[in-house]
Amino acid sequence: ATADATDDGPQGALAADPPLEPTEELLAELAHQSERLEEATPQEILRWAVERFAPRFSMATAFGPEGMTIIHMLSEIAPETPIFNLETGYQFQETHDLRERVKERYGIEVEYKYPELTVEQYEAANGGPVYKSNPNQCCFDRKLKVLHRAARGLYAWASAIRRDQSPDRAKAPIVGWDHKFQLVKVSPLANWTKKDVWSLITKEDIPYNPLHDRGYPSVGCWPCTRAVLAGEDERAGRWSGFQKTECGLHD
Ligand code: SF4
Repeated sequence: ATADATDDGPQGALAADPPLEPTEELLAELAHQSERLEEATPQEILRWAVERFAPRFSMATAFGPEGMTIIHMLSEIAPETPIFNLETGYQFQETHDLRERVKERYGIEVEYKYPELTVEQYEAANGGPVYKSNPNQCCFDRKLKVLHRAARGLYAWASAIRRDQSPDRAKAPIVGWDHKFQLVKVSPLANWTKKDVWSLITKEDIPYNPLHDRGYPSVGCWPCTRAVLAGEDERAGRWSGFQKTECGLHD
């Protein structure tokens, strides 16, 4: 894996243009569409997003079950949509393998976005693994900064969040302004349940991370993910032992 801070991938050519501004007009449009799409299927929501924002519409994925269902839908609706993954250097081999399976099944090459420093350089510069001493800093350096760079030139992206995942996510609009990254955030699965996601995965034989069958409902980087016990919260296995439940990617 190479770390190239200047490589902005397919969005690189678009990055020079001015970003989308959250004007009153745009925010009113988003609120209207969000309400209109409240009863729509995820596919209808994605179709609208593609028509409205492509080629400046993209998706970041960690290859979770929700992300896999969106990749499946996009393969039918708009397979040219650029999809990327934050390759922190700490992902499970199973996750890398899943990227290969996506390529085989859909012909979609999910692009890796790398932090500036390789894991070796990063750990050497910080006197050891930062995920142990300061996971917030590690997530900031290896995910958030990379995501900010990847967002340049984009007008909108798809998010795989579901409202029933946490109280924080319960009020997520279908379409809204992402203040953190300054672009439109589209959440086609907002009204879906975990059961809806897994029903589609089973019905359509969508590839998924085999770690889910081994006690990991939520898969992140290997140093910060453990299997959860029966009865534990879905995300309890992430940053176990730290007062931390999110990477800071969502508001
Ligand atoms: Fe670092 Fe852990 Fe965050 Fe991955 S999840 S970027 S290893 S702190």
